[in-house]
Amino acid sequence: MTPLASVLFPVAPVLIPVCRSGRHFQVRRIYCVGRNYAAHAREMGGDPAREPPFFFQKPTDAIQVALPGVTLEHPYPSMTANYHHEVELVAAIGKGGRDIDAFGALDCVCAYAVGLDMTRRDLQRAMAEQQKPWEVGKSFDHAAIVGQLHLASDIGHLARGAITLAVNGQVRQSSDLANMTWSVAEQVANLSRYYELLPGDIIYSGTPENVGPVMPGDVMDAAIAGLDEIRIRIA
Ligand code: MN
Repeated sequence: MTPLASVLFPVAPVLIPVCRSGRHFQVRRIYCVGRNYAAHAREMGGDPAREPPFFFQKPTDAIQVALPGVTLEHPYPSMTANYHHEVELVAAIGKGGRDIDAFGALDCVCAYAVGLDMTRRDLQRAMAEQQKPWEVGKSFDHAAIVGQLHLASDIGHLARGAITLAVNGQVRQSSDLANMTWSVAEQVANLSRYYELLPGDIIYSGTPENVGPVMPGDVMDAAIAGLDEIRIRIA
């Protein structure tokens, strides 16, 4: 092992607090599932048929942790005039593998949190229309908001329950985890055919319908039944 003292510019680990454990989860990779609720697939102009899930990544240091009871200040990003919220269930991988069977895939998931896959929708759409990678629409600083993690050993695995997002007190997104096209177990199984999953990976599970824009000064409240609610103010 290379001694850390020899590293020219050491990079701090990206950490998410784990509820009631006094410990942290170190993030290795951030995977995101696209169009995993039929109603959202329709609003994005897609086919709600049960096509295989598709994935993209965000940079690990895009994580911004929202602690319970604290309003997170989230900077409005550059280069967009149509900045969207996407509330999502986040699943954390505690045991990795390749070609994981969906039947046992939940054994790999150690914790859950509320997350927001923040999106520069204008850039995403413009790039998609030009058949270019939509990277700049999805992968940028602070684009991965996440609440503290709750261990599956404490709360069980999440397959149903309300998922909501309100802006300035008005509910914008409201659905149920049971409406996910691909369950967390199926996401893990499918993703592990493309990538070897390792502890530290997290998966944003896709957003329900009624994504929409936020402006500086707006306050977002994101909630999933059984998890800590998070509050974010767009700065
Ligand atoms: Mn998303």
